[in-house]
Amino acid sequence: MVRGIVPRQPAKTGRHEGTRISRPLKVSQKNAGLHPVRPGQRPGPTQTKVSKQAAPRAKSTRAVKGYHPLAPERIAGILKRLDQLYPEVTCALTHKDAWQLLVATILSAQSTDANVNRVTPELFRKYPTVADFAALTPEQLEPAVRSTGFFRNKSKSVVGAAKKIMSEFGGQVPDDMAQLLTLPGVARKTANVVLGTWFKKADGLVVDTHVTRIARRLELTKNTDAPKIEQDLTKVIPRDRWILFAHQLIWHGRKLCIARRPKCVDCALENICHAGDKTWSTVEIHKNAKL
Ligand code: SF4
Repeated sequence: MVRGIVPRQPAKTGRHEGTRISRPLKVSQKNAGLHPVRPGQRPGPTQTKVSKQAAPRAKSTRAVKGYHPLAPERIAGILKRLDQLYPEVTCALTHKDAWQLLVATILSAQSTDANVNRVTPELFRKYPTVADFAALTPEQLEPAVRSTGFFRNKSKSVVGAAKKIMSEFGGQVPDDMAQLLTLPGVARKTANVVLGTWFKKADGLVVDTHVTRIARRLELTKNTDAPKIEQDLTKVIPRDRWILFAHQLIWHGRKLCIARRPKCVDCALENICHAGDKTWSTVEIHKNAKL
């Protein structure tokens, strides 16, 4: 060996050139069972490459292992809590028969049930039967329903429905989805309200603005249009719950799960709800959850 040239020895401190300083794992990495992989080292069976995508902190509920929004246990939990919150709710529109309910539901479009309930007692006192409505022109009905909004279209629908019920259904509101859908101003939502609330027939599920909002917040659907939301809900909600479930969501939408600033602090569904616009949350994975 040439004098003066000494092979390099590892420093006693371990901080010699080429040595990587081993840093303690972050708490989040430990919790997630992730161990960083050194450059050039292939991940072993217990090692995982740490990348931004694989960050252990949940970016959304989809990243949470084992979480499935449509899992039967979760659906059962939602139904149970809705039962506790709203045990015996039904349609808030005042009515005494199928015809009155049909008229009230047509009038409730873009209006509130309370607003419609202020109008209908006098309306049905003045025109007690389907035949009375069928004898009117839409223009004659307009003043009586003006305060519910969109009164010209609504008058046309109500008078048109009355005429059709008199001429084709013997003066009786049909209890059949296909027949109801032939009436002017009647789409699936109105037909489902009449069939479910009056005839107790679960042909479909009422989807209004409240049902749409809450079904999306609870991740029961990703859709925004009513027919697709109805399809999604009828796949996961048991049929014998369709009528009550829709009423419960409507009441929940009025009382707590309101459109702006829902009252999550008072909501019994809070710890199983991952809505992105929650105003209060008790569960860590909710913090970054997205709708
Ligand atoms: S926790 Fe909030 S957003 Fe979720 S259902 Fe309840 S009120 Fe609605």
